[in-house]
Amino acid sequence: MERIRDYRVVIIGSGPAGCTAALYLSRANIKAVVLEGLQPGGQLTITTDVENFPGFPEGILGPKLMDLMRTQAEKFGAEFRVEQVVSVERDGRSFVVVTEDREYACDAVIVASGASAMQIGLESEKELQGFGVSYCATCDGFFFKGKEIVVVGGGDSAMEEATFLTKFASKVTIVHRRKEMRASKIMIQRAEENPKIEFVFDTVVEDVLGSKDKGVTGLRLRNVETGATRELATQGLFVAIGHTPNTKPFAGLLEMDDKGYIINKSGSTYTNIEGIFACGDVADHVYRQAVTAAGTGCMAALDCERWLSHHE
Ligand SMILES: Cc1cc2nc3c(=O)[nH]c(=O)nc-3n(C[C@H](O)[C@H](O)[C@H](O)COP(=O)(O)OP(=O)(O)OC[C@H]3O[C@@H](n4cnc5c(N)ncnc54)[C@H](O)[C@@H]3O)c2cc1C
Repeated sequence: MERIRDYRVVIIGSGPAGCTAALYLSRANIKAVVLEGLQPGGQLTITTDVENFPGFPEGILGPKLMDLMRTQAEKFGAEFRVEQVVSVERDGRSFVVVTEDREYACDAVIVASGASAMQIGLESEKELQGFGVSYCATCDGFFFKGKEIVVVGGGDSAMEEATFLTKFASKVTIVHRRKEMRASKIMIQRAEENPKIEFVFDTVVEDVLGSKDKGVTGLRLRNVETGATRELATQGLFVAIGHTPNTKPFAGLLEMDDKGYIINKSGSTYTNIEGIFACGDVADHVYRQAVTAAGTGCMAALDCERWLSHHE
């Protein structure tokens, strides 16, 4: 396999974390390549308006924001390649990042491979992403002022998102496929006590109704016990069934929690392996925002730069 030795640092992922790390490293004259994987630009490329990234008072489209971040990093010399990383190996004091096509020998690695919101898996869900279907209450709740919406899920994050969404929505229906919620008692209690929240159990979403012009207009629901289907009118669908961190290539190398998120040393982006840094959603199951991903991308570049200068 071809082995490339042109870059001191390999950055894995081109979401806000990877692009920001690339910007900082290239401005510090450190030659870096960003390996972009299957979703160049990351999660924001599948949304429409982003209204909470500072600097854009009118809001900005997710894909446009990512184009700008990439252009800014490229301006200072960062290079981007659409390649999927399959593993990272140690080679003495250096590293080899292995993709499906070639290998990259480098002195340090920044992991910014993000996380993927779990989807129900419907064609119509995909079609209406950003047009009424959302995976992030903090990001999109504001767009649903005075509307009736549905949250799918039964865990703590579904309860938390539903409760948060009642600040905007006139009614929130939680749809869960089982008889009982999986969430902790206190979170369920909080949701149950909220007059704007209703529960529908033993039920799955079979189809999302609507169009890109009209947005979401309803859901087709199926009761898993009886098989009966019905339509529920709604103006928004929040899918809160969890996130999967993209950490498969680092299994056995980097320390992770039970959900597969990388564990960093407190207050830094240092992982358990010297010379490998992690930033963005791949190491954050709490905040999961573009601005926090960009912030930790900056931290990773600074940590990496300092580490390299001490190990020259
Ligand atoms: C629909 C939606 C709407 C959102 N709206 C907002 C919003 O309005 N405001 C906000 O602040 N946040 C929003 N978010 C959250 C925000 O998108 C994320 O917090 C942010 O994108 C995380 O950035 P990241 O750089 O850590 O990772 P990601 O954006 O997830 O990017 C990960 C990158 O890693 C790459 N990658 C993964 N595996 C590999 C591999 N093996 N090899 C190479 N590359 C790999 C991917 O291809 C991708 O380029 C939204 C999320 C979603 C899903």
